Amino acid sequence: MKIIKFLIINTLCLFVMGKSHPLQAQNKREAKAHNKVLKLMGSRFEVTAVSENDSLAWQAINAAIDEITRIERLISSWDTKSQTSAVNRQAGIKAVQVDEELFRLIARSLKVSKLTDGAFDISFASIDKIWKFDGSMEKMPHEDKIAASVAKINYENILLNEDKKTVFLRKQGMKIGFGAIGKGYAANRAKQVMQALGIKAGLVNAGGDLTAWGQQADGKNWRIAIADPNDKTKVLAWLAIKNTAIVTSGDYERFVTFDGKRYAHIINPRTGYPTTGIKSVTIVCPDAEIGDALATSVFVLGEKAGLSLINQLKGVECLIITDENEVKTSENLELNYL
Ligand code: ADP
Ligand code: MG
Repeated sequence: MKIIKFLIINTLCLFVMGKSHPLQAQNKREAKAHNKVLKLMGSRFEVTAVSENDSLAWQAINAAIDEITRIERLISSWDTKSQTSAVNRQAGIKAVQVDEELFRLIARSLKVSKLTDGAFDISFASIDKIWKFDGSMEKMPHEDKIAASVAKINYENILLNEDKKTVFLRKQGMKIGFGAIGKGYAANRAKQVMQALGIKAGLVNAGGDLTAWGQQADGKNWRIAIADPNDKTKVLAWLAIKNTAIVTSGDYERFVTFDGKRYAHIINPRTGYPTTGIKSVTIVCPDAEIGDALATSVFVLGEKAGLSLINQLKGVECLIITDENEVKTSENLELNYL
């Protein structure tokens, strides 16, 4: 066995294994995995196209990268030129007309908010002025500041006008951000762009949000390893996937520590405090965007409510690693233990 991919996502490490193999048929060119790793949306992205046609594979990979870059320009809340920033600037002032694409992404985000009873909420972002996970924070934010910010979080105050394609954030100081759904959306789109160009098998890993279609170059299913949280070099279990997304939330580079307690970068919209109790959440489902949003939601809901939600959703499975390194899974997750 030769390891052809090694993707480390903090305590969860996912890697895809494959076998090198001889030509399957004479006179037929061998399908190969072509692969590019780069930083996009502030994260490590990996785009893989399996094809016997080298130039088509590279054309598709480059088209996928262009697509992700385009999406980033549209949805980034850091880029002052993005439509998202325009919506945020006009919070409490006026409605802003946006592209159909952004409008639909916001509408889908609101659906997830309803499904998760507000655990997932793109308006969490008004609190990002208070919690900073880039190492710049020196002390715990004052409770009053947190309370004032929480008052600005409420997805029900994101008003969409279907006819005019406008978005209005009802309260001044409100802000939206797509940190918990944007990478999943970008992974979906990158896959669609590659498929439209004729790539029958591939993989897009958008900073831990991974979507795979078809099979590896040797005809085997993609296999994703889940590392043991106690020892990252050990594989805890395998997931064999075909036409599925596997999305992991739990970014251990982004956290703050006060009085020995770790605060992760996912915010509970009700309290304004970062979530505790869960180290990482992996969602397996056909759609990377839904998986991305649900992974964040399970973090906020916690182990019990999170698993109960996932068990109600057909075709969606989940693996949670708790702060105590316990592994909890949804009812129908099929893991192959080593
Ligand atoms: P990761 O960054 O590990 O892939 P997520 O997909 O869960 O994890 O995204 C976390 C990001 O989502 C945060 O950095 C922040 O931008 C945003 N976020 C934090 N809390 C929430 C929330 N309750 N609802 C929606 N988005 C959130
Ligand atoms: Mg997410």
